[in-house]
Amino acid sequence: MFVDTHGHVNFNAFKEDADQVLRRALENDIQVIMPGSQYSTSARAVRIAEQYEHGVYAAIGLHPIHIGEQRKVDVLETQSEDAGAMQPWESFETRAEEFDYEAYKELISGSLKGKVVAIGEVGLDYYYFPKSKVKREKIKEKQKEVLQKQMDLAGEFGLPVILHCRKAHEDLLELLTTNHLRGVVHSYTGIAEQAQKFIELGLYIGFNGLIFKDVPALPDPKEVIASIPLERIVLETDSPYLVPPAAGQERNEPSFVRYVAEEIARIKNVSLEEVARITTENAQALFALPLPEEE
Ligand SMILES: [Zn+2]
Repeated sequence: MFVDTHGHVNFNAFKEDADQVLRRALENDIQVIMPGSQYSTSARAVRIAEQYEHGVYAAIGLHPIHIGEQRKVDVLETQSEDAGAMQPWESFETRAEEFDYEAYKELISGSLKGKVVAIGEVGLDYYYFPKSKVKREKIKEKQKEVLQKQMDLAGEFGLPVILHCRKAHEDLLELLTTNHLRGVVHSYTGIAEQAQKFIELGLYIGFNGLIFKDVPALPDPKEVIASIPLERIVLETDSPYLVPPAAGQERNEPSFVRYVAEEIARIKNVSLEEVARITTENAQALFALPLPEEE
């Protein structure tokens, strides 16, 4: 069994076939956590999760790229200067949103069967910064302020946080030192020393298909994976993005989490079964996922 701790089956790329995709995952013994990126996708994650007895969960939150001005974003551009062949769903319009604490709170308290297992994805993204230093500082402050509110919400409900972090690892570490929260730094792009610090603060590190990409601007994920214990790693796909090449498809989906597990097993020189068992235990502990007989 695997847990895809970060699969956006609640996004438009799965508008036509979300149910088939989730059933395929469950048949392959893969559980899925769907993080929201703004209110609409958070609400949709909850709605979808409620349709399943077991194995499908939601996280709710406002992603840092949806704070501030509307702009066009290319997902791969965020990982690499040379985006290569862009896939249709890897470019989208961001929609600016003000964080409404009460509305998000309502999603948690109104959800049936405790389907909201985390606040996410939330965090800091310093990638798309304007040239003006004054504007840059303003955006940083705004992102930190909104993240703090969402960390407060996590604290109020005792939920973990799913953290998005791009070019902002030191600022995120600082915020986590004052907010004692369980959580995961998803799609990890920091250096090994920073991963060590996140782990010391009690966080987990999430890896996905980005580990198959050779991005010169980023630290080598293989070195980071080799340097941290399997006991602090969780698996994810970040579907519909970052599809592992071996999947042979354009759109990623939770079932492809197996490829990430295989690569981690190879890097750490352990069996696939061990990666499956330990990362599943990690995800169950982090997100307090119910075991089948408890539901
Ligand atoms: Zn994501």
